[in-house]
Amino acid sequence: MLKIVFAPDPILRQTCEQLEQVDEHHRQLIKEMFETMYEANGVGLAAPQVGINKRIFVIDAGAREEIKKPIAMINPIITSIKKSLSVYEEGCLSFPGHYAELERPDEITVEYLDIDNKKQKLTSNDFTSRIIQHELDHINGILFIDHLSRLKRDIIIRKMKKYKKELNQSE
Ligand code: ZN
Repeated sequence: MLKIVFAPDPILRQTCEQLEQVDEHHRQLIKEMFETMYEANGVGLAAPQVGINKRIFVIDAGAREEIKKPIAMINPIITSIKKSLSVYEEGCLSFPGHYAELERPDEITVEYLDIDNKKQKLTSNDFTSRIIQHELDHINGILFIDHLSRLKRDIIIRKMKKYKKELNQSE
């Protein structure tokens, strides 16, 4: 199991590096990221959330369903975005217990490498689209709280600081 980095942490604010190609080491990391994500009952996990500064994330819109839909994306880029927006409640494994409604585009198309170094393209307009946008933010050092008002953001950060302090005290 990998250790999930909780906010606030400078690791979560870095712009991650591109991979030249996916090797065995990365495939092992991706396998462990999926295990960590499922264990934490999440639907997405980006490499910086486990302290790795690489443009990698894993998602599974069916993580809480019977049929799993795991997707690992490497070096993803958004190639098209539809203008229509919708509001949806998001959480984040780096902010345990915190959720907030925020607006994002409905439909995106993303190109990425899969674990076999093959170029893939995916268009989605559902929960998957939402998760991809959240995870893409992570590899650019952006967090879901950045989409909220300053007031809401400050409240969550203050609570997270307190939470992290309590964790350290109990260790
Ligand atoms: Zn997140």
